[in-house]
Amino acid sequence: MRARLLEWRELAPETRHFVFEALDVESLAFVPGQFVSFTAPITGKLITRAYSLAAPPQGRKLELCLNRVQEGRFSPYLFDLQPGAEVDMTGPYGTFVPRQPVSDSVLVATGTGIAPFRAILPDLLARDSRPQVTLIFGVRYERGLLYRAEFEEFARAHANFRFRPTLSRPEPSWQGRTGHVQPHLLETIGRRRDMDVYICGLKEMVDDMRAQLKAAGLERRRIIYEKYN
Ligand SMILES: Cc1cc2nc3c(=O)[nH]c(=O)nc-3n(C[C@H](O)[C@H](O)[C@H](O)COP(=O)(O)OP(=O)(O)OC[C@H]3O[C@@H](n4cnc5c(N)ncnc54)[C@H](O)[C@@H]3O)c2cc1C
Repeated sequence: MRARLLEWRELAPETRHFVFEALDVESLAFVPGQFVSFTAPITGKLITRAYSLAAPPQGRKLELCLNRVQEGRFSPYLFDLQPGAEVDMTGPYGTFVPRQPVSDSVLVATGTGIAPFRAILPDLLARDSRPQVTLIFGVRYERGLLYRAEFEEFARAHANFRFRPTLSRPEPSWQGRTGHVQPHLLETIGRRRDMDVYICGLKEMVDDMRAQLKAAGLERRRIIYEKYN
């Protein structure tokens, strides 16, 4: 299938929110947390990359959140597209989706790893079982807190949702949490071992987090993760 770029906006330096429209289908059905694959010929070679769907299903429209990887092959190509441009797309794919039945959950993201959680969070918060959900979001600088206003609004509107951003390179004016996501996750689960932990980001963070959770005695089935590299 083809996808047509409708619009994009800058979220932070080198990071954009893209809105595409799926062509040749009536609607794009997927489970929040899944991803699509884009393919394009780049310098004479077909290259395919995966991108998490960054909003709940909404007919033919799909939203993505991505950063331009310096020296990357595919992300700079997407950043050069202008509205109206089309790309080959397949999917949806993936098993990084809410587990059934839904338990109290901690969502952990770094950088654009936030993308699937922007789709998963409204889904979890709409459940009748009213699970307790905490989102721990790690970035370097305050300006990198993608969709911050939306998550703060969710926290105001839902007593069962907590938003815990943390900065690894905070400016002196920052009053919130600092450092990497790992200690904030361990603090959030405390002595509980009956929560599901969803982790999304680059391999180094995800692997480290999984090792720490296993060492803390969390069952493997409760650690659900997506690695971007
Ligand atoms: C299931 C899945 C979902 C993904 N969803 C997203 C998404 O929603 N948003 C998004 O920005 N990316 C996402 N990615 C990563 C994406 O598929 C590409 O790997 C990324 O855009 C870099 O591609 P590139 O061709 O520009 O870089 P390449 O030429 O492939 O070079 C990648 C190099 O850049 C490093 N790197 C730095 N930042 C990133 C990053 N964010 N992702 C991957 N590698 C990085 C890697 O370690 C690697 O060495 C996802 C990956 C997977 C497997």
